[in-house]
Amino acid sequence: MCKPARSAALLLLLAAGAASPAFAKVSLWAVLKQTSGKLEWYSGLGMGVIETPDGEFVFKPGVSWGLLDYRQRIRTGAITRSPRGDLVFSSAAARAIETALTRPLRSSRLSSRATIAAIVIDPGHGGKDPGTSDDPFNRDPNHPPLLEKNIVLAIGLNVYHQLKAHYPHKIVVITRDRDVYVSLERRTKIANAIKLAPNQEKIFVSIHANASFYRGARGFEVWYLPPDYQRRVIRDKGLGSDASAIYPILNNLREQEYERDSIRLGDSILQGLHETVGRYEPDRGLKAQDWFVVRNSRMPAVLIEVGFVSNPEEATLLAKPSYLAKLADGITLGIERFVDSFDGTNETESR
Ligand SMILES: [Zn+2]
Repeated sequence: MCKPARSAALLLLLAAGAASPAFAKVSLWAVLKQTSGKLEWYSGLGMGVIETPDGEFVFKPGVSWGLLDYRQRIRTGAITRSPRGDLVFSSAAARAIETALTRPLRSSRLSSRATIAAIVIDPGHGGKDPGTSDDPFNRDPNHPPLLEKNIVLAIGLNVYHQLKAHYPHKIVVITRDRDVYVSLERRTKIANAIKLAPNQEKIFVSIHANASFYRGARGFEVWYLPPDYQRRVIRDKGLGSDASAIYPILNNLREQEYERDSIRLGDSILQGLHETVGRYEPDRGLKAQDWFVVRNSRMPAVLIEVGFVSNPEEATLLAKPSYLAKLADGITLGIERFVDSFDGTNETESR
């Protein structure tokens, strides 16, 4: 999309500002025109987000600053509402928002759009924690039990290596690459410790295998965080003392965004699995649950249950390296499609 010429936009701004002789005021219409943006207004929260192809600016009338891409605090000056309820920006606020949203090469070298810069692959369990098993009481050394920790490590390593090869410029991390015990806290720390530039995101994909006392249960499913769960996603560091009023609201907005991305990621992985193993096992769909690892990750996160070791037929499949490779291919395909569409590369290809 092409932006209006800067001089024309400036004229518009001046014209809108000149409408009020008392002090320069700019209408919402002029600000949106200026930034090529659209407004998302949250009436319940009394705050708005100006979204452009290059970023998002969150503001609240009565608060003299806003947040760029939910991260960077920008001083704006007055933003108010007229008695009729219209949003009114001081010329300083309009200028600050325009500068923030149109500053060239604001965030990353290649693109100012948000991109997925890091992918965390998390094979569940390990070491002293075997996870589920097809036969927990089996002590036969010649026919060792099928253990979740081994299944998910094989799949996780496969996915990790494929993604590393596919994305040489992204950070790809695996939380364990051997049969070792890694606590849930440690897994979350590994993911949260990855440092990103503004406008970069990371995703977290945990891999598990299922078991049920009902031996007929079979198939793969993906879990994400339920909508009503609140996390402290945006850290208050650096927001200043007057942040306390706006903080929970921003947190809530960020939460909604992570939830939306988690659902997209989960759907994409389900679709990938459907394509590679759908003819063997049923797709049990996308489900919501506040798993620990997912809950403590400040990023879009999903948990995959690749299948049931408690189901005799599915256990036979899960014991085959070729089937685990198919599961890994499906998960990789789903992640890559999500990442490519998030990064916008699909858009340019399809046009
Ligand atoms: Zn598990």
